[in-house]
Amino acid sequence: MTGSDKNEENWHCEDCSTLLGIRTGTSLSIRYKDAQYIIDGEMSKVTAVCRKCSKINRIEITEGNRPEAA
Ligand SMILES: [Zn+2]
Repeated sequence: MTGSDKNEENWHCEDCSTLLGIRTGTSLSIRYKDAQYIIDGEMSKVTAVCRKCSKINRIEITEGNRPEAA
C-alpha cells in the first residue's frame, strides 16, 4: 500500500521503523489500538516515544515540506 498521491507522509521511528503516525498536510494522526489522536496545527511540535524500542522521536509539523528555519 502506498499513499503517495495525497500530501501524506508516514512517520516512522528513527531506530526501528515502527509506524508512529501519519502526517497529512498540517495534521498528524497517531493511532494505537482503539485510540486515535489527531494533532492539528502548523508549527506544532510532537514527541513520541516508540512503543517498541523506546526511542524518542520528534516531528515538527510545518506546512508542506519546508525545512526548519534556523
Ligand atoms: Zn522504535
